[in-house]
Amino acid sequence: MKKNNYVYLLDGKIYINLTNLCTNDCVFCIRDIKDDVVGANLFLDSEKTDVEEVKKQLDEIKPEKYSEIVFCGYGEPILKLEELKIVAEYIKKKYPHLKTRINTNGQGNLIYKRNIVPELKGLIDSVSISFNGENKKVYDELSRPKLENAYESMKDFIKECVKEGIETTATIVTGYKNYKVDLDSCKKQIEEMGAKFRERPWLDNGY
Ligand code: SF4
Repeated sequence: MKKNNYVYLLDGKIYINLTNLCTNDCVFCIRDIKDDVVGANLFLDSEKTDVEEVKKQLDEIKPEKYSEIVFCGYGEPILKLEELKIVAEYIKKKYPHLKTRINTNGQGNLIYKRNIVPELKGLIDSVSISFNGENKKVYDELSRPKLENAYESMKDFIKECVKEGIETTATIVTGYKNYKVDLDSCKKQIEEMGAKFRERPWLDNGY
């Protein structure tokens, strides 16, 4: 049986891949371009996340040698909130030197219909949130969200993370095909919310 790759390495960091599901369908989603990142096939056999297997793969990668771990993968990690919290707690107990981050579309509160950010406090040190566009029109065009009010909810999520003292970065993918994003407006809005702005230039095989 094929092994599910829950844990992989990229740019000297450990990444955790909990799901292939997402509430967005971004035009530039890397899942639509290739099925592997640095040789690790990230398509999972099942959406029934095996938390014990995640921990096992994590131990095998020897986390002592790394400084940061990122919940990311081919999907929206917060869709697996309970599993994510169990794994993050395991990391904080067993490998307290590791900084923890989630790369998210920022729709967690919309998905669960409650403010989940306080649940991340103490487990997650930083979040990187896909801001994607200066207004709902641009955001919807690029992110193709499946849930209503995704743009507003994502912005509220940024504010909640900042409020909880989680290091918060909001990102924009630039240079993808002919899509145009007003970077100045995005930067201004992001910084006004107290988050850091980061541009992620599109590369031919991802970003
Ligand atoms: S939020 Fe990420 S995983 Fe989801 S569709 Fe967009 S790029 Fe893909």
